[in-house]
Amino acid sequence: MAGPIAKARHVAHRSRRQGTSSLFRATLSVALVLTSALAIIAVRSALTQSSAVGSAPVASQVAVDGLAAGACMSFPPTTQGKGKTVFLDPGHGGLDPGVVGASGGRQVLEKDIALAVSTRLTALLRAAGYRVVMSRIADSSVARLSDADSLSGAMTASAVHRDLLARTACANAANSSVMVSIHFDAFDDPSVGGTETFYDSARPFAPQSKALASALQTALVSELDSADRGVWTDEQLAAPTLTASGSTYGHLILLGPASTGWVDNPSRMPGALVEPLFLTNPNEARFAADPAGQQRIAVGLKAGLERYFSSTP
Ligand SMILES: [Zn+2]
Repeated sequence: MAGPIAKARHVAHRSRRQGTSSLFRATLSVALVLTSALAIIAVRSALTQSSAVGSAPVASQVAVDGLAAGACMSFPPTTQGKGKTVFLDPGHGGLDPGVVGASGGRQVLEKDIALAVSTRLTALLRAAGYRVVMSRIADSSVARLSDADSLSGAMTASAVHRDLLARTACANAANSSVMVSIHFDAFDDPSVGGTETFYDSARPFAPQSKALASALQTALVSELDSADRGVWTDEQLAAPTLTASGSTYGHLILLGPASTGWVDNPSRMPGALVEPLFLTNPNEARFAADPAGQQRIAVGLKAGLERYFSSTP
């Protein structure tokens, strides 16, 4: 069996941009302000929607230092609670688009698809009795950023690092039962497609993480009828990382173990990172950009989570 696709996760697009004009820097500052403003509007909108559902309490922000507006939001179940919290992490956001695919002449951004799927999955899980905490509910970073955190229209390496640590801090502060990070895949060859899922094997709860990853992978492949590219450890994910520290670490920050000065407070619950489809594959990008397709992905993920919880005390 072939190994997982190596790709520039969390890194793509960044290194290709060269040169910075002062006008561009100014534009960037405006973009940061606008992103924050839009995030605040999205938060208000989410709060309004929650209270409009009925007697369900409104969403609230989990207390974590240095969060962006609209980051780390907790949503109570909308039916009788199961006493479990699912942490959902829509990958990327704000100045970090993630994978840039295309469908019908339009760009399909990983950050947008991940958020759309996560939002739909949140509704499904709340209706099934779960509390859900989303790392972000708008097109924003999770860590609060300043001008110094961007360069040539992209987040700096240290900002990306801090943003990933903020996601982990959110999952921990929310006392999550599990964490699921939602990303989409990319590869140079547009004919490549399918589903793959990652977990970290170096944690005390690695057996549960593997069970979670396997349940999500099986349910996604079944729901999407996609090519089963398998379940892998994050050490097998040979993605180029941003810095020498990241390469030395060799794990995904969200899932991996403690490493002094790089990941001082690692995630404390079983976790998996899913890549349901490839946005560089035109057919899969079209499916992922379609609201009906996004709902199918959410339905698959919910089925995988239910399967995991039913087999885990
Ligand atoms: Zn990604």
